[in-house]
Formats: sequence, C-alpha cells, structure tokens
Amino acid sequence: MNIVVANWKMNGDIFLAEQFVGRLNEIEDVCEIIICPPAALLWSFRNFKYYLGAQNCFYEESGAFTGENSPRLLKELGCDYVLLGHSERRALFHESDEVIYRKWNAAVAQSLRPIVCIGEKLDERSNWKEVLSRQLKNYIDRRDLNDTIFAYEPVWSIGTGLTPSEEHLAEVIIFLKGILPTSSLLYGGSVSSRNIGGIMSIDGVTGVLVGGSSLKIEEFENIIRQMSENSQIYIIHYEVSH
Ligand code: PEP
Repeated sequence: MNIVVANWKMNGDIFLAEQFVGRLNEIEDVCEIIICPPAALLWSFRNFKYYLGAQNCFYEESGAFTGENSPRLLKELGCDYVLLGHSERRALFHESDEVIYRKWNAAVAQSLRPIVCIGEKLDERSNWKEVLSRQLKNYIDRRDLNDTIFAYEPVWSIGTGLTPSEEHLAEVIIFLKGILPTSSLLYGGSVSSRNIGGIMSIDGVTGVLVGGSSLKIEEFENIIRQMSENSQIYIIHYEVSH
C-alpha cells in the first residue's frame, strides 16, 4: 500500500486533531495514513483508525533527560512510527548522523518503525550523492531495514514550493534503491494536490511526506484520494460530499 505521512511540525491544536480524526476515520483503507502531530497532541488522536507517528524520540528509554520523549512511552501512547533526522532537527537542534542512528536503534528496540529523513541542502545540490551516502552510512550494510522507511527530502524544497524535476527524482530513487533495496522510499518537500500525481508516477516512490499541505483537511484528503486512485478503492467521504 502507498504511504502518506503528515508532518504537522509544531502546528495544530486539539480542535484540528479532533477534526482530522473525524474526517479521516471515514476514509476507506486506501493507503497507509500516518499522522505525526506534536507530541502534546498525540493523545487527541487516540481514536484515530490509521497510524500515529512521533516527530522525534530520544535514544534512551528513561532517565534524567528533561524535555525528551522516550520511545517506549511513545509506543505506549499509540505511536507505530517515528520521524528521525528531519532537516529541521538536523539544522535547529544540531542532530548528527550518529545521534540519529542512536535514535534509530532505540526506536527499533521498541518496535517503532523509523522514518529516516535525508536530503541535501541548496548549496549541496551538485553533490547530492555524497550527501545522501554520508547520511546513510550507518544503514548501508544492515540487513534489517525492511521496517525502516527512508524519506528523501531535499532541504531546499521543504516549505518553499519548489520540487525536484521528475527526472532528477527518478535518478535519486534509483540511487537510493541501490543502497536500500528492501526499504520503502518516500519523497517529501512541498507536496500538494497539484504535484502528487507526478511524484507518485515515479518508479520506486512508495509514498510522500507532507508538511504544510497536511494541515488543511480538504487539501490533505485530496492528496490521499489521488494517492489511492491506482488502487481503485472507494473513499466514502468523497462520495458523500462531492
Ligand atoms: C516536511 O516538513 O517534511 C515537509 C516536507 O514540509 P513541506 O511539505 O511543507 O515542504
């Protein structure tokens, strides 16, 4: 099944969470929907019929780590997934590939499926292969990556409205498939209902990670509907209201 991940970042509130739960619970199982709200809103999704993800976790299970979130408790709260290494975590909170890898180990130990974000910055565009190889160096020889999802998110496309050309994205996906043959590969960066068709037509892309467009219910439903068009399964909500 195709995957659509919503990264709400530090946005939304209890009202929006309840609105999303009500609307998305009406949608048939046409793709794997994973919502990653701020940690403080996870409980508001307790009746969500799809999947919940955290936006980050710490690499220890418990202890004197004020302000951090334990992978074990995130699991208890209903998370099945956790985003790791988002470019905002790398840039604003100085997360290194080593720290992200420690978090990956801690998440896997709690059966949380990691969604590891990778991607080059604007001034690294010409050597994207080097950047991605460096970000992936800890995973390359592992044989247990079936449950790890990797999201290619060029930093220059996050929140900017810019997306890579389909040719370039196809080249990146072929490169990543060579390194990570058993993992699902997502694309993230300014995904919207206008460009989702082109992105999903690229061989090897199994889904998308959506930031800004995942906070508007109509737009997000529109993305989900297009994600699932290939599966020919019916979305009740759309049939009722359109
Ligand atoms: C993101 O936050 O990972 C993201 C891709 O954001 P946006 O869709 O807003 O570019």
